[in-house]
Amino acid sequence: MVARRLLALLLVATSACVATAGCAVDGDGIGEGDDDDNVVVGDGMSPDDELVAERQLNGSELPNKTISLTFDDGPGRRTGELADYLAEKGVKGAFFINGSKVAGRQGAIDKIVGRGHLLANHTHNHKQLTSLSAASVVKEIADTDAIIAQAQPQGPWVVRAPFGAWNANVARAINASSMKKYVGSVFWDQGGALTTTAAADWDCWGKGVSVQRCGDLYLNEIRTKKRGVVLFHDIHDKTVDMIKQIVPTLIAEGYTFAALEDVPSVKRAIAGASTPARDEQCQSATLGRPVDENVCVQSRSTQRWSRCVDGEWIASTGPTDTKCSQRFPL
Ligand SMILES: [Zn+2]
Repeated sequence: MVARRLLALLLVATSACVATAGCAVDGDGIGEGDDDDNVVVGDGMSPDDELVAERQLNGSELPNKTISLTFDDGPGRRTGELADYLAEKGVKGAFFINGSKVAGRQGAIDKIVGRGHLLANHTHNHKQLTSLSAASVVKEIADTDAIIAQAQPQGPWVVRAPFGAWNANVARAINASSMKKYVGSVFWDQGGALTTTAAADWDCWGKGVSVQRCGDLYLNEIRTKKRGVVLFHDIHDKTVDMIKQIVPTLIAEGYTFAALEDVPSVKRAIAGASTPARDEQCQSATLGRPVDENVCVQSRSTQRWSRCVDGEWIASTGPTDTKCSQRFPL
């Protein structure tokens, strides 16, 4: 039961991907072909889906004109330069690193931490975790954790799954290991897909979209949605050029940049991770704390109701579920 209980500390991005076309595409745009071959699609609702729906972390609760910048797949050649630039602009970013890219780039890691940015875990080799064995999943997180723990020993411990590919088995594997300290998977609200009104940096560069055009599309999506966690990939040189183009514009337009650890859903998850649930309890991201058996909570991310049973969230009808001992509507 320990593993089942701990599952509640983490969450799955898969459910959100069902509703957001292209959201699972988190490509690094290098190497073996297009990452959009790896889009993960949910296969119907299960109790596990209910559990993870209660746990999704995104930036939907941020105030108007407030965004949080996140960078995946690095460190790259210009990550240190990017860390310096953001610090000069008073912006705190979150860098979800792949441990396998760190060799020869320890200076970038030191710069990320030294400049006050968040160092976060994007696994060691950027493999799709949902296709790996439990032992391999844990190794993917732990190998990069060794780098993070050395550079940022006090945490916080935040993970984002490559391609947004995450499910209950992945979470169980992590939560049954010493890597249970991690909260996540952190999702994103903007920067997930290249369309006529929005962009994904890696897809821009792969399709020959200019830095100017790609930046304009990012700005358009940010102005339209007004808030959220924004996804970029600092492994690409052009992304650094684009950041230098759009950040001054956003500052001039009055946007506020929130550190990822201050994004409400992430902040609650980090706080909740320091209050571990007992075996029969469920960890609620919505409430930011564990709840007892038969307590019902309405998910902030999906508005659906879940009830805590034997340490796991199951689907509930909420107000009409007579088994709810206590209800927490939004
Ligand atoms: Zn990635």
